[in-house]
Amino acid sequence: MNDGKELCMDRSEALMARALESIPGGVNSPVRALRSVGGGPFFAAGGDGAWVVDVDGNRYVDLILSWGPLVLGHRHPEVVAAIRAALDHGMSYGAPTEGEVEMAETLRRLMPGLEQVRLVNSGTEATMSAVRVARGFTGRSKLVKFEGCYHGHADFLLVKAGSGALTFGAPDSAGVPAEFAAHTITLPYNDPAALEKAFQEAGGQIAAVIVEPYVGNMGVVTPTPAFVAALNDIPRRHGALLICDEVMTGFRVALHGAQSLLGLQPDLTCLGKIIGGGLPVGAYGGRREVMQMVSPVGPVYQAGTLSGNPLSVAAGLATLRVLQATDPYPAIERNSATLCDGLAAAAAAAGVTVTINRIGSMFTVFFTGTPVTDLESAKTSDTKAFGRWFHRMRNLGVSLPPSQFEAAFLSAAHGPAEIDHVVQAAREAFRTM
Ligand SMILES: *Cc1c(COP(=O)(O)O)cnc(C)c1O
Repeated sequence: MNDGKELCMDRSEALMARALESIPGGVNSPVRALRSVGGGPFFAAGGDGAWVVDVDGNRYVDLILSWGPLVLGHRHPEVVAAIRAALDHGMSYGAPTEGEVEMAETLRRLMPGLEQVRLVNSGTEATMSAVRVARGFTGRSKLVKFEGCYHGHADFLLVKAGSGALTFGAPDSAGVPAEFAAHTITLPYNDPAALEKAFQEAGGQIAAVIVEPYVGNMGVVTPTPAFVAALNDIPRRHGALLICDEVMTGFRVALHGAQSLLGLQPDLTCLGKIIGGGLPVGAYGGRREVMQMVSPVGPVYQAGTLSGNPLSVAAGLATLRVLQATDPYPAIERNSATLCDGLAAAAAAAGVTVTINRIGSMFTVFFTGTPVTDLESAKTSDTKAFGRWFHRMRNLGVSLPPSQFEAAFLSAAHGPAEIDHVVQAAREAFRTM
């Protein structure tokens, strides 16, 4: 293990100086900039299993894993071989390929709620399209989402509410006209009464409820049984659809998704991340009668030049094949439990108060003593303390997501040696932060 001194980051810093000239903030996705922890990023040079290497040659146990997709770790041999094999035939045709049929059949077989599915290029496209289909199917405009859930960056999904049971949305981002956000109703997560009230007030106008079944995007938050029951019951009673956004949880928390673990019965499911094996992808699907709304069979338009890209499909199919053949989930669960137990013990030994939330291989160390069950409780975290811990961990060779409000991940490639490395680093980091 690195002794925890400041790492040499000369090449990363030089690249960042160049990047800032040509790319807004120097990054192609905001959270990579490490702004919320007050530091700069490393530029990645490569990855191998559980490890990522930066351009200065520093090695880290990778707990970001491309923000979720790399459930098998970096460059799994079967995934690499599948991409190489696909490349020998061609990169994209604008005509359907056999792989897309196989992917759709595989997703149907594995994900309980899917009767038909369409591939797109990102999770954002998947959620945006699923909502459009739900609106087309119901003939209604309003959408319910929950505070702290992230569903990509489509205009009407970039909305959270102030506290309170029922708030008509105001956009989170400049460039989103208030009118675009006005159809979005934002409610607290894990609050069945707020959901009931929203439907009593506006039920006839609500097309759909979209939810992260386990939330990763305010840090990890798990749903209560009462909330799951309300999600299954209330929208349906009012003729609205339930959209389960499994872009992060799909094939991560279980082979059959969070919906299988929770008994959630969505009309539509969104996927992404893992089903591309590290290449760009998204998918949405669900009940046949709803998906029959999609063009060219139905009136809801949705399209994509590179949708179902052969390389992404090959990488995704290889990933899903390995997951089915090897069933890594029990081992990942044990390793994740060992890791989080180790982190909790390390914090306690150093006298640092934390709340650790975990589902399968997704976890967050919240710097708060409050149980974290929604956005409000997540926000009780000491983000400055998180930032200090993040930097200590990085100097000790562990790459964590650079925000208190994100999930960290393990992969099938993280074994006892990596778990031990992270726990040792955490002991030192909690003690000296
Ligand atoms: C990552 C994520 C998205 C967005 O996916 P992109 O591929 O980044 O557009 C949507 N929903 C959830 C739950 C996610 O975690």
